[in-house]
Amino acid sequence: MKPDISVVIPVYNEADNLTELFSRLMSTMDKLGRPYEVIFTNDGSKDDSGKILRDFFKQRPDEVRVIDFNGNYGQHIAIIAALERARGKMVVTLDADLQNPPEEIPKLVAAIDAGHDSVGGKRMGRQDSFFRKYASKLLNVIRERCTDIKMSDQGCMLRAYSANVVDAIIRTGERSTFLPALAYKFSANPGEVEVEHAARAHGQSKYSLYKLIRLNFDLITGFTLLPLQMFTLFSVACAAGSFVLVLILFYMRIFLHDNTNGVFTLFAILFFLISVAMIGIGLIGEYVGRAYQSVQQRPRYNIRELIEKNADA
Ligand code: UDP
Ligand code: MG
Repeated sequence: MKPDISVVIPVYNEADNLTELFSRLMSTMDKLGRPYEVIFTNDGSKDDSGKILRDFFKQRPDEVRVIDFNGNYGQHIAIIAALERARGKMVVTLDADLQNPPEEIPKLVAAIDAGHDSVGGKRMGRQDSFFRKYASKLLNVIRERCTDIKMSDQGCMLRAYSANVVDAIIRTGERSTFLPALAYKFSANPGEVEVEHAARAHGQSKYSLYKLIRLNFDLITGFTLLPLQMFTLFSVACAAGSFVLVLILFYMRIFLHDNTNGVFTLFAILFFLISVAMIGIGLIGEYVGRAYQSVQQRPRYNIRELIEKNADA
C-alpha cells in the first residue's frame, strides 16, 4: 500500500542513538494509525550505524527502507536522496540524535493535513551550546535581511513537506543547498509549529565550526546575490572616496607644498582597500565554485546499497 507519510532521517555515526530513536519513532507512527514508511540514509557512517539500520529493516521490512551511501555527502544531500525515493503524500524530516523528539511528528502531520504545504518546527527551549544558540539567532537575522525567506527557525530540521513541494525540491538538482529555504521557495502556504527540543542524547554534533560556516554560505549564496551586489556598490563608493582623496592630496602638494603628512594614513587606507578586495575575490569564489560544481554534473551522491523490500521493483 502506498504510504501516507514518509519519515526521512539522515544518519552519520549515530549508533548510540538509533535504538531509542527507532522504538520511540515506531510507536509514535504506529499510534497515528496511517500507512507510513521510514527512510534512513546512512551517510557514510564509520561506526555500527549501518549494521543497526539493516537490523531495523529486518525487524520491520514493510515500513523501513535504508539508503546506504558509499561515503559522507552531508545532511542535506542525505535527506535529498531520501526525498527522491519517498512515496508518501507528505514527508517528515528529523535528526537521528533525538534532539527532535519523534513524539512531535503528529503535530507536523496535523499541520499538513490542515492545508499547509510546508511546515517548519520552531524549537522551544532549545538545548544547544550558548554559542550555537546565539550564532543561530544572528544567522536567522542575516537571512531575514538578505533573502525573501521568512521563517523563525531555519536550523530546525524537524519539518514536513507535501509531495508537491518535495517534487519541486528534487527537480532543482542543487548540491550545495539549504533545504528549509528551498522548500519555503516552493510552497504556497508555509506554516510553523512549536516543537520541543532536547539535548543530543549521545555523541557529538557532526557540525564543526567550519561545516557550519560552509552551510550558512550555502544558504546565503543559494538564495541571494545581495553580497555580490553590496560589494559592487561598496566598490563604487570606494572609488568615489579615493577620487576625492586624490584631489585633496593633489591640492595639498601643489598649493600647500605639503607632501610629508599622511603617508601612514595612506597605508591604512591602502590596507583596508586591499582587504576589501580580497573579501570580494573570496565572495566571487563562493559563487563561482558552486557554479563550477554544478556544471561538472557529477551525481550528487552514490548509493552502495538500497536495503528495502522489492528493491528492484
Ligand atoms: N548528519 C548527516 N551527515 C553529516 C552530518 C550530520 O547525515 O555529514 C545527520 C546526523 O546524523 C543527524 C543530523 O544530520 O541525524 C543532524 O546532525 P547534528 O545533530 O550533528 O547537527 P546539529 O544538531 O548539531 O545541528
Ligand atoms: Mg543534533
